[in-house]
Amino acid sequence: MIVTTEGIVLKSFDFRETSRIATFLTKDFGKVKGVLKGIRKTPGKFGTSLDRFSVNDIVYYQYRNSDIHLVSQCDMKEFFNGFRQDLKRLTAASYASELLDTLVMAEEENQEVYVLMQNFLNSLQTVEDINKLIHIFQIKILLLSGFRPHLDSCVRCQKKIAGQANFSLPWGGLVCASCKPPALGAGSVVSITKGTVASIMHIEESPWQVVLRLGLSERIKKELKYVLNHFLVFHLERHLRSTKYL
Ligand SMILES: [Zn+2]
Repeated sequence: MIVTTEGIVLKSFDFRETSRIATFLTKDFGKVKGVLKGIRKTPGKFGTSLDRFSVNDIVYYQYRNSDIHLVSQCDMKEFFNGFRQDLKRLTAASYASELLDTLVMAEEENQEVYVLMQNFLNSLQTVEDINKLIHIFQIKILLLSGFRPHLDSCVRCQKKIAGQANFSLPWGGLVCASCKPPALGAGSVVSITKGTVASIMHIEESPWQVVLRLGLSERIKKELKYVLNHFLVFHLERHLRSTKYL
């Protein structure tokens, strides 16, 4: 079957003598792997050089029994020039793309994830507070990929939690005072303020443009960084390579 869609390049690598294999986040078919035959031998064959994060119009033959499809056309339409020269922004884009690649299953259609990545890359060209942008991305991608932290009540007994709370990294949610384990290893339960919990829930529920305007205090940003990074490390089983540069 021949399909036409739009895709963001998450990564690509050389394949055999003259080809490249790219992982695209596509608008209509989720995360898709495709081979671009002859792209290294005849660069003019495709209207793209498969730059990471670029948006491309693509046409490919969808093979039924393979996880790699044959790309016949690929033309770049958006390069995001606004962050290419800035190492910190480029690192943020790498982190977001790696996180997405880890959390999202192959070939599962999810247009919301596509729109999220596009919004993130667009905003990365202009938004000043890069760390805030990363936290917004983390919260939204966790929600959309089904890994959201449990914040509505105690993750063990479902009791409502008022005021200061504790967040359990292994259980992935808030724990009330009676469920909080007395002697867990250091770092597995962290204290989290009501303001931080409310900010995460606000970011989950609100559209991108609204969230961008959200003001976060230094204290909330510090807590978000700690809780989100540790939560992700705990649940992704390995450190994302780019996390350590953020
Ligand atoms: Zn409880």
